[in-house]
Amino acid sequence: MAARDVLKLSETFSSLQGEGRSTGVPAFFVRLALCNLRCDFCDTRYTWDFTRFDYAREVRTVPVETVANAIAAAPERRVIVTGGEPLLQRAALEAMLERVPEDVVVEVETNGTLEPGETLARRVAQWNVSPKLACAGDPEHKRIRRAALLALRDTGRADLKLVVRNRDDVAEALALATALEWPRDRVWLMPEAASRAEHELRAPDVAAACTQHGVRFSPRLHVLLWGGERGR
Ligand code: SF4
Repeated sequence: MAARDVLKLSETFSSLQGEGRSTGVPAFFVRLALCNLRCDFCDTRYTWDFTRFDYAREVRTVPVETVANAIAAAPERRVIVTGGEPLLQRAALEAMLERVPEDVVVEVETNGTLEPGETLARRVAQWNVSPKLACAGDPEHKRIRRAALLALRDTGRADLKLVVRNRDDVAEALALATALEWPRDRVWLMPEAASRAEHELRAPDVAAACTQHGVRFSPRLHVLLWGGERGR
């Protein structure tokens, strides 16, 4: 089968959107494998770190029709395509979404390093764009790709969601949002937290920064509810 006909899939599951604009909304999650970054705090390393995880166990190669059928059969009328980095498989993602009923709202989560292309820009209702700051550990030229970020911004349906740990991160995040001229009402700060304890520790300062700078606050609902348990 051609690359456009299959997706490298990590997992699918039903849950609540845990972050950003549609936090708390029931959704069917399609988590695609592979990523082009190597963030220190990544909580889905099983999608790409095959020095620690077994590729044969973690990644299934699945026809796009099979994934589209699973979305169509799910009770939720919202699909969240996440990863890894979903746009690494853009052609297959386009082919898959062509087969998804029009009444299904499509959200895509991306690290903002790859351009969406016209087909996805038209079909995707909500982009959650999360470029990584210096604290993620990757070199800047890999994690900040201005042309891709501007293409996502110009869909008019993209939120910039920045993961921060401290004041330095907040300053870096706001400087990036300003440099990209991202609409302020679509800029979100979210505490980096892999556990409830980390969330409790960091959220108050991040919330205060959001109030001070007039940007939105996102919790990590899945961490608060389930402690970041996989597949929820
Ligand atoms: S971009 Fe996302 S999936 Fe990729 S390494 Fe960073 S946190 Fe993990």
